[in-house]
Amino acid sequence: MASINNLSIPFFIFVSLFPIVNLLLLSPLLTAASSIISDGLKIDLFPEILRDEAVARLYQLGKVSDADGYLERTFLSPASVRAGTLIRTWMEDAGLTTWVDGLGNVHGRIQPPNASKKTLLIGSHLDTVVDAGMFDGALGIITAISAIKVLNVTGRLKHLRHPVEVIAFSDEEGVRFQSTFLGSAAIAGVLPVATLQIPDKSGLTVQNVLKENLIETTEENLNLLKYEPESVLGYIEVTVKGSQGHAGTVPMSMRQDPMVAAAELIVTFTVDIRTIDDTGREAIIYELSNQMHSICDRRSVSCLMERKHDADAVKCDSELNSQLKSAAYSAVKRMTGEDIGDVPVLMSGAGHDAMAMSHLTNVGMLFVRCRGGISHSPEEHVLDDDVWVAGLAIQAFLETNL
Ligand SMILES: [Zn+2]
Repeated sequence: MASINNLSIPFFIFVSLFPIVNLLLLSPLLTAASSIISDGLKIDLFPEILRDEAVARLYQLGKVSDADGYLERTFLSPASVRAGTLIRTWMEDAGLTTWVDGLGNVHGRIQPPNASKKTLLIGSHLDTVVDAGMFDGALGIITAISAIKVLNVTGRLKHLRHPVEVIAFSDEEGVRFQSTFLGSAAIAGVLPVATLQIPDKSGLTVQNVLKENLIETTEENLNLLKYEPESVLGYIEVTVKGSQGHAGTVPMSMRQDPMVAAAELIVTFTVDIRTIDDTGREAIIYELSNQMHSICDRRSVSCLMERKHDADAVKCDSELNSQLKSAAYSAVKRMTGEDIGDVPVLMSGAGHDAMAMSHLTNVGMLFVRCRGGISHSPEEHVLDDDVWVAGLAIQAFLETNL
């Protein structure tokens, strides 16, 4: 048994709060139904766009990788650039005007003729972790495009009361530069200019990599990427519920965490605390440090605690929350004919682009269940019908609120 002395406890504290909507699907779904009769009206559920094409695109994008045999797309890597090009063609197919911005984010926008100035942003990320699953990030981009395509083919897109912009963010995972949210932070105006000089493993900086892709972004023009808060209605993000057994998403009781065992043997360790709000986090930290000190006192060892990182909880906008809840409710109702009652609202411990975007505007999140809650892994899996209902929910959200 190792003796414990000079106990140093760096705290890694990362807290995010997302009351999120879990698309709780009741099976069996009416998978074969392309339309249902409701109040005598035929309502088309567009399975060929919202399910079949969306799922095919998820698989197609899931093959766009820098690695052989597994999925890896990091910030502006060759595969990321190919993925961006593919996403652009899908955006254009849905009736959106596209461009790539100074940080490699891919945008697709519809500017209806009589729309007000405030734009609804819908986004997720096109980069992946190493050996990723094919849904994280991609699902949010693809379902948003599919929902807009439905509005386009039914002629409703040009009658929306607000412009809508889908953004495929260039970096959320932070794999290449060990700095997350490069894309969304630039749009939110919270990306420090010094980020441009961060090098990757090969010594290329963010700025070098942009330049390689013919994107001239400098410290002087970085702030041009920032959206003005007055021009934005809100930001919504669709993502998978779950993550690779990391602290953000899996409770301790459900993890097989070697760190827990190791913590009994080692003298320096990190504690990652994620709670629903900042007050709760402070309370836990206070209690934890009290207990640490009392254990160390009892064992007659010294104890040093250090807070390495703090991130404030981000609260989703209550209005967007209730609009997304209604949209999820009606999507499930339309598909299954069943009344699911109250749509669950969840907290997310994981990081999302919505955290960066919360500096710009109100944010809301829509979560889609994935098998076993596993994400950031090739095991990640979302049912075809859940992809479909996610698309229907975004469509319902846009039709009702825009
Ligand atoms: Zn992720």
